[in-house]
Amino acid sequence: MAISQYSPQSAPHIIIVGGGVSGLAAAHRLGELTQQTGRPLRITLLEAQDSLGGLVGTREADGYRIETGADSFITNKPGAIRLCERIGLAGDLIPTDARYRRSLVLSRGRAVAVPEGFQLLAPNALWPVWKSPIFSLAGKLRLAAEPFVPRPADPVQDESLASFVRRRLGTEALERLVQPLVGGIYTSDPERLSLRATMPRFLEMEARYGSLIRGLQAEGRETAPQDRAASGARYGLFATPRRGISQLVESLTARVRQSAEIRTSSPVFTIRQSAESPGFQLDLSNGESLECDGLVLAAPAHRAAQLLTAIRPVAASALRKIEYASTVIVVSGHRLTDVAHPLDAFGLVIPAIERRRILAVSFTSRKFPNRAPEGSVQLRTFVGGAMQPQFVRLSDEAIVDLVREELAELLGVKWRPEVVVVARWMNSMPQYHVGHLDIVAQIEQDLATLPHLALGGNALHGVGLPDTITSGEVAAERVFQALSDR
Ligand SMILES: Cc1cc2nc3c(=O)[nH]c(=O)nc-3n(C[C@H](O)[C@H](O)[C@H](O)COP(=O)(O)OP(=O)(O)OC[C@H]3O[C@@H](n4cnc5c(N)ncnc54)[C@H](O)[C@@H]3O)c2cc1C
Repeated sequence: MAISQYSPQSAPHIIIVGGGVSGLAAAHRLGELTQQTGRPLRITLLEAQDSLGGLVGTREADGYRIETGADSFITNKPGAIRLCERIGLAGDLIPTDARYRRSLVLSRGRAVAVPEGFQLLAPNALWPVWKSPIFSLAGKLRLAAEPFVPRPADPVQDESLASFVRRRLGTEALERLVQPLVGGIYTSDPERLSLRATMPRFLEMEARYGSLIRGLQAEGRETAPQDRAASGARYGLFATPRRGISQLVESLTARVRQSAEIRTSSPVFTIRQSAESPGFQLDLSNGESLECDGLVLAAPAHRAAQLLTAIRPVAASALRKIEYASTVIVVSGHRLTDVAHPLDAFGLVIPAIERRRILAVSFTSRKFPNRAPEGSVQLRTFVGGAMQPQFVRLSDEAIVDLVREELAELLGVKWRPEVVVVARWMNSMPQYHVGHLDIVAQIEQDLATLPHLALGGNALHGVGLPDTITSGEVAAERVFQALSDR
């Protein structure tokens, strides 16, 4: 971006609303910009809760290092890895354990390996699919026919992920494998998920190679051999800080404090604009009012909508259209001798057609070292999501009970846990449904006339940590530039 140099009478004030990863990344980027340009800024970050980090947090309990939210991030998107490099955390990042780099899927009541090289929507080779007990003969033949399925003559503008997979690979591939693998990322209903908004890479593959299998094979020629065989998510690409994701929040916060004031327990209630000045007035819950010249909103869409109602009703009503799903994670620690299954993978995903009451189990201490004491294992069991919302309404006790029953049946877990933590994430996962990109366009069009206000967060351009971090940084740059242009 072009950065102009100027000397203001007094330093412009930029407020960031939200102290999750995206808000912290925005504040950090503003600090960098002031340093790079020599242009003074007053930066304030307001967080509603009494702690920072939003949806991420690491806890230590009884020798376990527990992630209550995100546990790692992908490194082939630049947002998180570049930020770690800039805040001095790169040397403390650890990769996933190569010994267990594969996923299991429940198939007719049994945990079986996801075929080698099956990457979320499609395989990069057919032999592992032929050998797999997951598919019937008819399902295998349909999968093998994928390279011969023509591109649509009249492409659908915004196709659901389910429709795309059914069209290219057949219903069995969708129901038995793709739905649970994708559900593990988005906790979504694939019939409603927009492929273009979530995984445009596969649409591009269809357009370029006429086949996902051929496309993945072409991409594979540029991939390290050990990652070519990995199944599920591309696990070789994931990393996390040695001491857990909170280490990222702590390092980032320490940097942000060098150039910004951080106020926790400071929920913003309303944002106003007066005719006299181009800036904003923010009303806080304690009755205090703050003025600023620029604003970054890094709060979930429904919160940002409330705040924008008075000043940008069109953007506010579009933001309200973005639905959120809820999920509960039950983290439990067990002696390995209490688990019959060898847990020789990173986790187990469960197709909706299996009619179980849990979505997935992550074998967290198989992914990363120092997540469980020697001889023990940490399991994170996911409940609810868009496909099974009825379960998140249960009490903690009832959810732990159903997890206990499911883990006993599926993995042979004898319930004598060394630790149990229940993390509830209500309305926390934005759902990029068909039509999402139109909603994003409406929001951005309405906000285009307010360049000194920008949105960060996971509601618009990607739900993972890298995209979320980038969203905060881009929002910071936009507001900084708008104030520089004045
Ligand atoms: C269960 C779960 C597991 C996940 N796992 C992974 C993973 O393994 N890898 C990965 O890459 N991503 C993962 N994600 C996604 C990722 O964690 C999130 O997308 C990311 O943390 C969102 O950050 P954010 O800053 O945009 O939002 P949030 O973390 O939601 O932060 C928003 C902040 O704004 C504050 N706020 C809201 N309203 C106001 C107000 N009016 N005034 C002041 N403050 C306000 C909130 O209190 C909150 O702290 C996961 C998400 C969930 C829910």
